Amino acid sequence: MAKENDSFKKIISHAKEYGYVFPSSEIYDGLSAVYDYGQNGALLKKNIREFWWKAMVQMHDNIVGIDAAIFMHPTTWKASGHVDAFNDPLIDNKDSKKRYRADVLIEDYAAKIEAKIDKEATKAAKRFGAAFNKEQFLATNPRVLGYQEKIDTILKRMGQSLEKEDLADVKALIEELGIACPESGSRNWTEVKQFNLMFGTKLGATTETATDLFLRPETAQGIFVNYLNVQKTGRMKLPFGIAQTGKAFRNEIVARQFIFRMREFEQMEMQFFIPPNTQKKWYDYWKEQRLNWHLALGIPKENYRFHDHEKLAHYADAACDIEFKFPFGFKELEGIHSRTDFDLANHEKFAGKKIKYFDPEQNESYTPYVLETSIGLDRMFLAVFSHALKEETLEGGATRTVLQLPSALAPVKAAVLPLVKKDGLPELAQKIRETLQWDMQVMYDEKDAVGRRYRRQDALGTPFCITVDHQSLEDNTVTLRERDSMQQQRVAIAQLPQLLEEQTAMKYLLQKL
Ligand code: ATP
Repeated sequence: MAKENDSFKKIISHAKEYGYVFPSSEIYDGLSAVYDYGQNGALLKKNIREFWWKAMVQMHDNIVGIDAAIFMHPTTWKASGHVDAFNDPLIDNKDSKKRYRADVLIEDYAAKIEAKIDKEATKAAKRFGAAFNKEQFLATNPRVLGYQEKIDTILKRMGQSLEKEDLADVKALIEELGIACPESGSRNWTEVKQFNLMFGTKLGATTETATDLFLRPETAQGIFVNYLNVQKTGRMKLPFGIAQTGKAFRNEIVARQFIFRMREFEQMEMQFFIPPNTQKKWYDYWKEQRLNWHLALGIPKENYRFHDHEKLAHYADAACDIEFKFPFGFKELEGIHSRTDFDLANHEKFAGKKIKYFDPEQNESYTPYVLETSIGLDRMFLAVFSHALKEETLEGGATRTVLQLPSALAPVKAAVLPLVKKDGLPELAQKIRETLQWDMQVMYDEKDAVGRRYRRQDALGTPFCITVDHQSLEDNTVTLRERDSMQQQRVAIAQLPQLLEEQTAMKYLLQKL
């Protein structure tokens, strides 16, 4: 646990030191669970967003993208169920005065049992050596099965109690499990209460005439209320999708995990409109598609897993998460939800306007069903960033910090470095930078010895360094150094645009899908 904390702290401080993520309004000591993206973070975030957008919109002729406003008519949130049901169960510890999400306390308890399963497996792997079959061990070992049964029983009971809104039973479960406050170690808990996560605000010039509004807690509703507009103006035929990226706001009860859980964050959502009763097929289809999108980044598969929801949200008939192995364990990165016709049917009811699809093949009108994929851009940022950050020991014992970002996502694709600050080398280096910047984000750096500059670019995640030396003036070649292998090769300046494009363009990432 201490090791996990250390590596998470390193990630947070590296993100700050290299201009990726800053606490919001830091000169005033920050604002809880709100963060700003710095000069490199903004670019990494933009590239992740672009990878998602292109994979969804550019690569599918039946998916279009929109950009709806953050403010929406307040009735939207009644129709969507958010006013009544967008709650988290909160519980306070009377001694430490700390507030927790009751479901998260229970899930963390279950995660500790899961860690015991991992420990058993590691022990057994050592004992059996090469002959060890992990899958078989997990499926047959009595101790592991006992732990698993315990986890299943706990999570099932929690899911059922939350579903029934039986908050007294959620508290009873916390007490029966003997869960203590992580801060004070005390088991002196308040009752479990529901807490609505929406931020309220006002629209209008005077207090008397102002309307109460909410900051949107998800981008999805902007898509639902525009379903008819897009379907008609785009002459879309089912099945088709509407994609959107944008800010969402939630007054999270506990927000202590850096950009994993923020009060202002960005979502990338796609609602796929389908005929009723085809949701199972499309649910499986989008589960596979979305996992492939993640795997295209080259992060090994064992860092991802599917997790079926114990408690279904008020709108869903099936739902799962793609979980990622964050520095603090497996946690939700993306949700895939079968939302039935809940949203469109409710908007039809609340707006009093017909929201249907005329299916020419079936010759009938119906309310489409919806399959949703929903991912947090900031969480994706954290997944990519935390996996990329490595401490390496080099030959000879020296260490280097390297941010092995997939090159198509890296903020800066190449740094141009004159070996020395004289003899015309800076001028040639600047010329190379100017040629390359038509196609990609590049930077120029002439400060410090070249070895230090390489280290700086490694830590920044820049995939290539281009070093201009005296030979460059004679034969128009430069040294091209690759970040991960640290291999260097001599290449012609004229070849650089093509070489770098082949190694860093988003196109090649999309081709892996
Ligand atoms: P959690 O259980 O972690 O609170 P959720 O199930 O409420 O998440 P959804 O409503 O399904 O999340 O939202 C879709 C995605 O939006 C999540 O998978 C996550 O990546 C992202 N997300 C949700 N809440 C936050 C937040 N507070 N900060 C950052 N990202 C978030």
